[in-house]
Amino acid sequence: MKRIAFIGLGNMGGPMAANLAKGGFEVVGFDLSQAAMTALEQAGGKSASSAHAATEGAEVVISMLPASQHVESLYLGEEGLFAQLSAGTLVLDSSTIAAETARHVADAATAKGILFMDTPVSGGVGAAKAGTLTFICGGSEAAFAQAKLVLEPMAKNIFHAGDSGSGQIAKICNNMLLAVLMAGTTEALALGVKNGLDPATLSEIIKQSSGSNWTLNVYNPWPGVMEGVPASNEYKGGFQVDLMAKDLGIAMDTAISSRASVPMGSLARNLFALHAQKGNGGLDFSSLQKLFAD
Ligand code: NAD
Repeated sequence: MKRIAFIGLGNMGGPMAANLAKGGFEVVGFDLSQAAMTALEQAGGKSASSAHAATEGAEVVISMLPASQHVESLYLGEEGLFAQLSAGTLVLDSSTIAAETARHVADAATAKGILFMDTPVSGGVGAAKAGTLTFICGGSEAAFAQAKLVLEPMAKNIFHAGDSGSGQIAKICNNMLLAVLMAGTTEALALGVKNGLDPATLSEIIKQSSGSNWTLNVYNPWPGVMEGVPASNEYKGGFQVDLMAKDLGIAMDTAISSRASVPMGSLARNLFALHAQKGNGGLDFSSLQKLFAD
């Protein structure tokens, strides 16, 4: 049985690691939160006392951490995992981070004979739990062929976007569009409700009309309209505003360095930054709806 070390067992990493354990892999996880490690044990995995301990004897390492700096400090430097992993180990980073960081980490891995891919995901916590995530991979064909076999228990789609960093570029394009769609959807629902419409009825009408989009179809931001989404659970769980603001910051940096024009993404970044500044950074990103509440 393949042994997988899984670092970062949060809203996404927790259910992803649980699906790997269900899929027949031996999963050893590490997270700074003891509650997250207990949840993995209950799902059939094991926990370790450190990231280094989790990777002992592992053929594959997967990380699902908040941002670029967490990924750099996990793998690089004298204390980093690359100093101890054996050549030939497959390392998959599913965190959403800057493409530049992903390329830098990939170069450090190659220098040690380690196979590294950026494998960010789309789909949210619901898809992480259901094992229906979309993985967007950047790296060599050889690494992709091996990665696919490991990612399958967590995935509905597995794409090879191109060389190192390509997965992160595709992911950031997707999330910039998602932020724009969420901003537009919350604004439209607030306008309808302010003019006497029921939010559930309005949602159903738009879902069957030309304004239909992912946020309305599976992630309705108005409390009580859809069961099982963060909006119906006081915007707890899901995808934090702070993480969306981080992704939009990466999108803006990418746009600046490639001289691309992204006016809608820029407006969405400012809306999410404003919402975070008002103390909502730890809530799910659909809580942007509150910005438009009376
Ligand atoms: P989260 O904050 O719920 O989980 C991150 C976990 O990493 C936490 O449990 C934290 O304790 C742990 N952690 C931080 N530093 C660590 C370290 N040094 N060693 C071990 N564990 C450490 O975040 P999340 O929602 O699971 O998101 C993780 C990544 O996935 C982010 O890059 C995010 O942008 C991306 N993402 C999230 C979603 C979503 O819907 N939540 C969807 C797609 C992509």
